[in-house]
Amino acid sequence: MINEQRLVQLFCDLVTIDSPSRSERDMADHVKSLLLDLGGQVEEDTAGQAIGGNCGNLYAQLPGQLPGEPLLLSVHLDTVEPSRGKQAMVCDGIIRSAGGTILGADDLAGLTAILEAVRSADEQAIPRRSLEILLTVAEEQHLLGSHHLEPWRLKSREAYVLDTSGAPGLAVLQAPGHIGLVFEIYGQAAHAGIAAETGISAIRTAALGIAAMRLGRVDDVSTANIGRIEGGGETNVVADYCRVTAECRSLDLASLRTLADELRAAMNQAAEQTGARVVIHEKQSYQPYQVERDHPVVSRFVSACDQLGLPVRLVATGGGSDNNVLALHGITGIVLSCGMSKVHSSQEEISIRDLTDTARLVKLLICSW
Ligand SMILES: [Zn+2]
Repeated sequence: MINEQRLVQLFCDLVTIDSPSRSERDMADHVKSLLLDLGGQVEEDTAGQAIGGNCGNLYAQLPGQLPGEPLLLSVHLDTVEPSRGKQAMVCDGIIRSAGGTILGADDLAGLTAILEAVRSADEQAIPRRSLEILLTVAEEQHLLGSHHLEPWRLKSREAYVLDTSGAPGLAVLQAPGHIGLVFEIYGQAAHAGIAAETGISAIRTAALGIAAMRLGRVDDVSTANIGRIEGGGETNVVADYCRVTAECRSLDLASLRTLADELRAAMNQAAEQTGARVVIHEKQSYQPYQVERDHPVVSRFVSACDQLGLPVRLVATGGGSDNNVLALHGITGIVLSCGMSKVHSSQEEISIRDLTDTARLVKLLICSW
């Protein structure tokens, strides 16, 4: 049985440990000791140094009794701000932040559910799969920690990432990939009144380029957006520099590439037209994933929810998570809701019932094939 009191106590204890992005050390050390108590082995990579933080991603191995390849469970250790000195308050079955900070249920709900599920299965001697638990840092900073993941440390081919809002029973099967673009446009400065014809406006070039782009919801699976335009100065000077940031997302990897190429071509053509020069910086932040409904990682989740009487919702999302990075490394995973709500705000909360159901769900997932 899931020990509800122990679970809530663990959650409230962990809330008191500050763990903002890049400062996860105290949380990591504490969680590491809990994992060692569960018989795990824990290793840490060098992501902390790479991202200017004080802690790397943790990889825990918890050997199980069921044969076969291990199962990966993943959560992140960091929180958004304001997070310093947070305290949990329990009232009418709901856990909330006692002060003006976030609560940190994102992602402590997932973490505590995993720890209690393993502890509960092991103390009842219920055979479970071997587990790998991945605890990432700086997830809230555009998945910074998992970008420095060392995939050779992971043997699992299937994963559950416990990191989305809503009552347990929801799973994200599909999420877009993301490409970020920065256009730097170099024109030619000139007096805007006396010698306008000798100038090349970087701003006009940017405007022509942007006007030619397909933006917004481009098709059923893709979106594109301009984030920021900056450049220029006085009105009597033809602007010689303009910087434009953009992004595109698509559920389809080929469409994502095509869309990024389209945005690039639009700006290059505008520059050709005006005589400006464009330098384009591009970064593929993460890759899309799509897991079929009949994949074992989904069917196992659905049957566990059925056993617990949790209504199942299988959805697509427009945002990225550590699961996109796992997909990049050939691991088939889905993202599960773990009861948290109103995340990234001081109103963040979780009900004890949802937290307990999440632990029950994880227990079924790790004890079945
Ligand atoms: Zn999260």
